[in-house]
Amino acid sequence: MSLQDIQSGIQKACKACGRRPQDVNLIAVSKNQPLEAILPVLEAGHRLFGENRVQDAQERWDPLREKYDDIALHFIGHLQTNKARDAVALFDCIQSVDSARLADALANEMQKQNRNLPCFIQVNTGEEPQKSGIAPRDLEALLRHCRENAGLSVLGLMCIPPEDEIPDMHFALLHKLAGQLDLPHLSMGMSADYEIAIRYGATHIRVGSALFGIRENKNTV
Ligand SMILES: *Cc1c(COP(=O)(O)O)cnc(C)c1O
Repeated sequence: MSLQDIQSGIQKACKACGRRPQDVNLIAVSKNQPLEAILPVLEAGHRLFGENRVQDAQERWDPLREKYDDIALHFIGHLQTNKARDAVALFDCIQSVDSARLADALANEMQKQNRNLPCFIQVNTGEEPQKSGIAPRDLEALLRHCRENAGLSVLGLMCIPPEDEIPDMHFALLHKLAGQLDLPHLSMGMSADYEIAIRYGATHIRVGSALFGIRENKNTV
């Protein structure tokens, strides 16, 4: 599908639930995509991209930023604390804060680099043992730590629902948690379910394969 197809999908989904398309940010997930797939999207004027590996993202975007200087990059993968420095230097938003330790490492790097990146907390809504994210019951304490101890700007929540379930209840849960904690942003919805996520209030949808095609299956999630 083209960028335009996704944009009209967003418009349609917004119309169906009485939301404004400009309140839904499309994050083009460029991980493991060849440059030929990304260039047309850049040329069409899209500037918001998501990556899940720090080193891959550096290799891809450091050179591209010389030509396109207004690109915004969101980190959407699992972040190890030893990558915090590079992540803070490269990205504009970290969507996957899921531990106090990571929050501290990020805060420390932001201070050193004099950068203040907005963050999301990733919530493991399905409580899957193999998946990153904080369990819903521990979210409030982590949010408090991020803000009061680390001094991070936490703007929202992010989730990746279990692959084998319909996503609705996970989107509904993330929406409910964000409402309770007064967080304005919700990052949820991918290629297969972004229209549903919009219905549940997504402000950031993360679309990869529907936009760029099936990626090289190096490291999918
Ligand atoms: C890969 C990935 C996406 C995009 O997935 P698609 O199904 O290709 O749209 C979205 N979010 C995260 C966290 C990802 O890792």
